[in-house]
Amino acid sequence: MTIKPARTRFAPSPTGHLHLGGARTALYAYLLAKKTGGQFILRIEDTDIKRTVPGSEQEIMDGLRWLGLQYDEGPDIGGKFGPYRQTDRRELYQAHAKALVDSGHAYPCFCTAERLDKVRQEQMKRKENTHYDGTCRALAPDEAAKRIANGEPYTIRFKVPHDGATVAHDRLRGDITTENKQLNDQVILKTDGLPTYHLAAMVDDHEMQVTHVIRGSEWLGTFPLHVNIVRAFGWEEPVWAHLSIFLKPSGKGKMSKRDAPDAMKDGYSVFIKDMQDLGFTPEGVLNWCALMGWGVAEDDVMTLDQMADRFTIDSLTPSPAAVNFQRLDHFNATHIRLFTTEDLAARIKPYFTREGLNVDDGVLLKIVPLIRERLTTLDDCLSFGSFFFKENVTPNPEDLIAKGLDAKQSAQIAQRAYEILAAQPDISHERCEPPLRAYVEESGLNANQVFGILRVATTGQKVSPPLFESMEIVGREKCLARIKAAIDILEKM
Ligand code: GLU
Repeated sequence: MTIKPARTRFAPSPTGHLHLGGARTALYAYLLAKKTGGQFILRIEDTDIKRTVPGSEQEIMDGLRWLGLQYDEGPDIGGKFGPYRQTDRRELYQAHAKALVDSGHAYPCFCTAERLDKVRQEQMKRKENTHYDGTCRALAPDEAAKRIANGEPYTIRFKVPHDGATVAHDRLRGDITTENKQLNDQVILKTDGLPTYHLAAMVDDHEMQVTHVIRGSEWLGTFPLHVNIVRAFGWEEPVWAHLSIFLKPSGKGKMSKRDAPDAMKDGYSVFIKDMQDLGFTPEGVLNWCALMGWGVAEDDVMTLDQMADRFTIDSLTPSPAAVNFQRLDHFNATHIRLFTTEDLAARIKPYFTREGLNVDDGVLLKIVPLIRERLTTLDDCLSFGSFFFKENVTPNPEDLIAKGLDAKQSAQIAQRAYEILAAQPDISHERCEPPLRAYVEESGLNANQVFGILRVATTGQKVSPPLFESMEIVGREKCLARIKAAIDILEKM
């Protein structure tokens, strides 16, 4: 069976940060396009101009690129079906709204905001679902035309059917049947001449030849309206898939952008830009996102290409997924272990330089194998590796005192270790470890005491990568100087 190439799109509104939900929607759309040899489109849905946030469009594009979800068509790269920003396509929507009016599927509405508000209040008082009361639906077309000619402001509303039911097919949920009397004549073109989502997205998905609409489940409520609009035009329907919702980490209630501050307190975020700053990798973030809503094994570690290989739209699940940040840590750490040494070196280097450290690339390549297993996020490289790039370290004096000993005894041990190391022609771990271990044996001390002092002296910290390998990279002169400085500190205590 040959698979037809899918054209999919990610269609965010530029109203804020690219977040976890958006990234997952984009990912699935991307995967389907790649799997089938089709195209993935970025379309900016900016017709609600009051809500447009400057910089948001750029952040979305940067975020997708950082994640590796490169689109084939989009506002900044163009494409055959452009423009890809809805405010640049307004005439198209106006023409389509007019076509719907002409075919009797839509009508101009002259109701003012005040009147609509009053209608809404009254419906609420009567405990009814709020809906447009149909006043202008009943206007004779020539009467409406006269009022338009007189310059009266108007919107265009879609005329939903009143009888029967609408059956809309969602690929993940099957047929969804809605009684038409529950539908509402929604505005599709506003007084400012700009369309609402309901019209713009349907027109664009058709014009851009989108085959699969993969979107958030917040659109399930207006899904029957959308299929009615598509059918009114007589267009072929795309495959629709409404993704599962995210639950808060507690599993109770829907996760929303308002949960962001809580996540941030724990060193996590729901925003892609923050995740990047917090040291998460695109591979970790994507793997984590992918499994929230895709029915593959919970522990499957996959790169983007591997995901694209395995993806099918029918393996998506509509069941809600709780956001679990520990799993993000898990996937991030797992992918970090899979990077080549050169790749990981290039990824952690900016964290060191950002701290003002002078990074020697040769040293960096040597430390990567030592710290790789210890990293959960990329910025963990700082706590395990900064001392390699510093001239001096400043250990906490208390930490230099070995367990069960006092400062004076610790100074003597450091002195002896210094002499042993100074007597070696170099500081390779092969050369230095045996005589220091021999010293531990003959002194009757335990290894933790001796090596603990050395570790704090040479690295400045109690936890470090393997001691002898680290000392070798720090280098003979620097190590000896650091041990000397530690002896001084201990002797003054
Ligand atoms: N602009 C809509 C949003 O950001 C897009 C929904 C869709 O994918 O069709 O929610």
